[in-house]
Amino acid sequence: MRAVVLALSLVRPAPIAPVVPSLALPRLALPVLPAPSLAPRLFAPTLPAGRVYSAVSEDQDAGLLAGLSRRPPKAVVMDYDSTLADRGPDGLSLPVAEELLQSINALLYKGIPVVIATSRHYELPGTPFPMDLKPFVDRIPAPLRRHLFISGGVGTELVGFDAQGRARTLWADPWDLSVARALEALCRTTAAELGLSAEVIATPGQVMLKLPKGDMNGAGLAEAVGRRLAERGYLYRVMHNKEFVYFSRSDKGAGLVRALAALPHGVAQEDLLVVGDEFGLPSGGDAPLAAAVPAARLVSVGDAHSRDLPPGVHRLRAKGGAGVLLLLKAVLAGLLGR
Ligand SMILES: [Mg+2]
Repeated sequence: MRAVVLALSLVRPAPIAPVVPSLALPRLALPVLPAPSLAPRLFAPTLPAGRVYSAVSEDQDAGLLAGLSRRPPKAVVMDYDSTLADRGPDGLSLPVAEELLQSINALLYKGIPVVIATSRHYELPGTPFPMDLKPFVDRIPAPLRRHLFISGGVGTELVGFDAQGRARTLWADPWDLSVARALEALCRTTAAELGLSAEVIATPGQVMLKLPKGDMNGAGLAEAVGRRLAERGYLYRVMHNKEFVYFSRSDKGAGLVRALAALPHGVAQEDLLVVGDEFGLPSGGDAPLAAAVPAARLVSVGDAHSRDLPPGVHRLRAKGGAGVLLLLKAVLAGLLGR
């Protein structure tokens, strides 16, 4: 795979100034970007605000789990970071727990397609922190991988595996190198204008600004980057969480639609289980999954109770890998007739 890390840059390790979102930015020389007409397609979803589960009872969780055993899904779609892989004390993902890995292997053994819908790429060497999924896939026995699909790079690549477990890129739609570099430079300039120190990392599918630990300026930086992009006709949704400000040329929903089309047998939305940790509206990275397959069984193992979720998303009490393990055990109980 010709995944390329385009650049990494540290900007101004100076004291961090508070961000004022309405701050008028000085006009600096910014990189030239191609005309907006050349921009890749944009995702501008109309995501309805869904019902909010202010308190999910154990009964509701038990009902969901019983339903998964009674009528197991015919394919399972899962996010990776903070869903399959919990975060360690440094904010980076830990390896997927062994028991959870064995549950995934059992699904694959039963011929249930598993789609990992992630911002990571299958292979992406050279990043300052892991952005690849190959180390995880390498832990799955090669003969089982033929039922595994990686919808990576926030929907910009689709990787499947042959009968020997070798990766095959089924589809890829990376940024043109010159566009990615220009977007990266724009982000670096914007962060510097705000006096923020952020690592800027461009991958084939997204641009990320990694905030220093404890930096609370993500919202202001996201707003400023979005404004700068819009001035040049790029209407990317700029998202942020505790560690990152980021945007992509695609979204996980678009990637999932392509992944489902690649499955050897069609799977109805109602027969999908979709698990993520960031469904929160308006800009959670997993929210486009719910928009793409609204009739699927949708489960969050991470969203706080204060966040609005798309309609039908069940907020599981157990979080992260522990929550996913509960779900997969319920599915396997149904598949194995226990
Ligand atoms: Mg996640």
